[in-house]
Amino acid sequence: MNFIPVNTPLLSGNEEKYLLECIRTGWISSEGPFIRQFEEKFAFYIGRNEGIAVANGSGALDIAVQALKIGNDDEVIMPAFTIISPAQSVVRAGATPVLVDCDPKTWNMDVSQIESRITPKTKAIIVVHIYGLPVDMDPVLSLCKKYGLFLIEDAAEMHGQTYKGKMCGSFGDISTFSFYPNKHITTGEGGMLMVDDPELAERCRKLRNLAFEPGGRRFVHNELGWNYRMTNMQAALGVAQLEKIDNHITKKREIGQAYQTGLEGIKGFQLPVDKTEYAKNIYWVFGLVADSEKLCEMTVSKLNALGIGTRPFFWCMHEQPVFRKMGLFINEKYPCAENIARNGFYCPSGLGLTPKDISFIIKTFHEL
Ligand SMILES: *Cc1c(COP(=O)(O)O)cnc(C)c1O
Repeated sequence: MNFIPVNTPLLSGNEEKYLLECIRTGWISSEGPFIRQFEEKFAFYIGRNEGIAVANGSGALDIAVQALKIGNDDEVIMPAFTIISPAQSVVRAGATPVLVDCDPKTWNMDVSQIESRITPKTKAIIVVHIYGLPVDMDPVLSLCKKYGLFLIEDAAEMHGQTYKGKMCGSFGDISTFSFYPNKHITTGEGGMLMVDDPELAERCRKLRNLAFEPGGRRFVHNELGWNYRMTNMQAALGVAQLEKIDNHITKKREIGQAYQTGLEGIKGFQLPVDKTEYAKNIYWVFGLVADSEKLCEMTVSKLNALGIGTRPFFWCMHEQPVFRKMGLFINEKYPCAENIARNGFYCPSGLGLTPKDISFIIKTFHEL
């Protein structure tokens, strides 16, 4: 039987040529020339002054939190419904994540609930744009201004997406991207921080490189950093992928719309929002939320049995065993996030997906 995985990357441009160049020139480490090229080109594309390429998107968040000196006694407001990366960066830094429920339709953080969670200890807000549709940024930006809070923007699922015509990844004091193979462009593993302030950029560069002091005595350190450097080979892939980014986004949107049309009116499932007043969905993934856990389980197991891959939605931060063990989020409830975490899953939507695959998946849904 033919198995359709949830993701298949598309490597159809200059990836091979640039990779060969790395091998032939011997530039395989993070010192190679593709790194600066990728950083500059991606920063230009997003409209930021500086890009700092790193080993992965989670590492970018670790650096962002430390670069902004978020630590003990600080609180950071973030969505309950997200991948664990931003929460783990905050907890590792010794700060406390403070959660906000999601909007039941867009699945993004319900920004109307943020202000009531602000205390004198709040130092930053982390927004995480979910599944291809951006967070409603204007209210977040005004709260940051009103209370003097830093904004970290996790734009890992938003390459090329805009909010009211402005690029996602351009809003945060620090914004972060991931280039994992299921993102709109990939470097295999990889990530990038986007910054405008040159001093902050310098700080991020230092933290990605074991906090070596630029200009200081080598191997003498004043603080702890990480080795989150990206290799020249990853950046070579990144440069090639970036040449095709518009095509990738169009393709993802086409996949999303094919699902929307094919599944319109289907009983028992909530489909993603195709557009809001501020953005059109670019369908990082195509998610569905079933009316019940039973329907969700049944559908997923039938799809899988027929060779169609699926993934469950993120699991809520306040229900993570690891955080509960630390005494975090005890007795907290975020009903919308809990509902979509339990009943949501997504279908194959990789860039390598063919129209034939999509028709087969839609047909299977209708037969179930
Ligand atoms: C993929 C993703 C990450 C993590 O990126 P990695 O490169 O896998 O570490 C972080 N945040 C969001 C929202 C993501 O989708």
